[in-house]
Amino acid sequence: MKIGFIGLGNMGRPMALNLVEAGHSVAGYDISNIALQGIDLVKSIDQAVVGMDCVVTMLPNGEILREVYDQIVPQGRKNALFIDCSTVDVQSANYAHDLANKADLFTIDAPVSGGVGGAEAGTLTFMAGGTDAAFSRATPLFEIMGQKAVHCGVGGAGQIAKICNNMILGISMIGVCEAFTLGDKLGLDPQKLYEVVSTSSGSCWSLNNYCPAPGIGPTSPSDNDYAPGFASELMLKDLNLSQQAAGLVDAKTPLGEMAAKLYQEFVNNGGEGSDFSAMLPWLKSMKR
Ligand code: NAD
Repeated sequence: MKIGFIGLGNMGRPMALNLVEAGHSVAGYDISNIALQGIDLVKSIDQAVVGMDCVVTMLPNGEILREVYDQIVPQGRKNALFIDCSTVDVQSANYAHDLANKADLFTIDAPVSGGVGGAEAGTLTFMAGGTDAAFSRATPLFEIMGQKAVHCGVGGAGQIAKICNNMILGISMIGVCEAFTLGDKLGLDPQKLYEVVSTSSGSCWSLNNYCPAPGIGPTSPSDNDYAPGFASELMLKDLNLSQQAAGLVDAKTPLGEMAAKLYQEFVNNGGEGSDFSAMLPWLKSMKR
């Protein structure tokens, strides 16, 4: 396929490279001047869109997605497939779908989970929203860039699944960090806490697979001085998206709201640039 790839940042670069490695012809565009081996870098956004069978976007937020779609939709070849893999607010995802569908383009919102490591290894999980036809056309590309793609429903459904998942993740990480803080202050060996909880009713992904206490459980960012991983400011972004969506539909999500506030405080107070599991040393440093 002839693929345009717009947004060659931490995630977009390795995803685009995997498409090239699988034999596709990729024209990459980024607003910043980037150097990248293996991809045909084009100088204007139009060159990543005109005549392409597919255009993938991997952008920072919904506002930028809207701006980019305003630019690229009029240039799209009729019936081309537009896949947006960015994490954005549900309204921006719907805006992009509406605009593109009116122009006879096939669209999928397909945010990902798996981080930069998953993008490099081609093991991302895609959460997709769009028509059956669009999803089946996108599936071969999801199979190259990822290991799993779930068709969550109509346009926007991928973004809804993503923010719900990450709301659980933020809340559960805080819960695990609170337990390790309390256990520590009461004098319990964190290794023992891990041994008990990882096979008890408090077990969860944040503890079993991504333990925030260094030296415990499988290797995770806590073992590397909390270098991300999944940065705290990205967790904050997703928690804020969940709260924005909750506001729109009047959904009560008190722990999601509290998690967003706590990550905001953490990011404002030195947490930016650290993995989101660095919530643990931050909580430990505070008094009740
Ligand atoms: P990034 O900031 O590294 O990359 C975004 C890229 O988009 C940058 O290179 C930027 O120059 C480019 N860009 C901005 N405006 C543009 C425009 N108008 N035209 C073309 N290019 C433009 O971000 P990232 O870490 O690659 O994340 C991308 C998306 O993936 C975000 O929505 C993020 O929330 C989501 N995500 C990131 C991770 C992660 O671990 N990094 C994990 C899951 C999802």
